[in-house]
Amino acid sequence: MKWALLFLLMLLAMIMLPAYPVEAQPLSKGYLVVTFDDGRDGALAYAAPTLQQDGVKATMFLYEGSLDQGWQGFLNRQGALKLQNTFGWQFESHSMTHPDLNHLSSGQLTSEIATSKGTLKRDGFQPIASFAYPYDTGWDNATVLDSVRQSYVAARKASVFGNVPIMYDRSRQLGPSGCYSCPPDRYQIYGNVVTNTTSVQTLTGYLDQAAANRAVLVLVFHQIVSSGAEEYQYLGSDLKSVIDYAREKAQNGVLESLYFSEAVELLFGVSSFPTSCVLVCLPSVSGVVVAVVAGIAWAFLLVRWNVKRKDRGATPQLSDDLAVA
Ligand SMILES: [Zn+2]
Repeated sequence: MKWALLFLLMLLAMIMLPAYPVEAQPLSKGYLVVTFDDGRDGALAYAAPTLQQDGVKATMFLYEGSLDQGWQGFLNRQGALKLQNTFGWQFESHSMTHPDLNHLSSGQLTSEIATSKGTLKRDGFQPIASFAYPYDTGWDNATVLDSVRQSYVAARKASVFGNVPIMYDRSRQLGPSGCYSCPPDRYQIYGNVVTNTTSVQTLTGYLDQAAANRAVLVLVFHQIVSSGAEEYQYLGSDLKSVIDYAREKAQNGVLESLYFSEAVELLFGVSSFPTSCVLVCLPSVSGVVVAVVAGIAWAFLLVRWNVKRKDRGATPQLSDDLAVA
């Protein structure tokens, strides 16, 4: 009986162990996650060629309702798919119609959060595993959060910061907003919003801080333009300066670019698999594999042990042993 208990403890340890490396191991370098919101056409005209030239990955948070409207400054479906299929961008959901999520019925919430995922995936966009809150609304609303958790593995906020960005390592959120030691929350991952007043020096400073702290930095761009940048717009020439600087740091081995989905996996050990509790609750796929293998070994040894007892003429029931344990 003692060895059986010992084996059970070993089995539990094997299941739990994969949780710790993800939380405890520091990152080996800084990571840059370049994201774009809303499906604006400057992503294709200016950002995509620059990013491709420097080997920097990008993720678009797209809302379905922006496509095929003929709105000035927005991508059509063909343009959005070109970002993915020609330039290698990944896509995530930014809702169906970009509403304020705090003022919706439950049916509307389902449409904006859950249905948008299915619709974007049906239209060929991948991986659609994370969500970005439109107008940065709903992240502090329990009903909205429940809905987001049911459909996505992570979600991104968006805020404007000064010279110190919000960044993440595996155990902490680093940054200026008073929560230096809070564990990262994968449904409240801050993106640092870039506006027309964010200087190139500020952004290269962000990259330096990400590399120095070995942290994940998420940037949020909206529209990219060639001149006359308004509030949520950024000059293509300035973007190129920032991305060129990121490439230099990557060549020095201190910074690497990631898709948003890769950053989520790096920080939290959850991937773009559909949300099933087994995958999300356990720390990683490897945890599931180890648990299954250990379970089979455990069952095999139990059967073998009972057979030996029978051969010796002992009472074969395990329950007898349990009764005296
Ligand atoms: Zn938006």
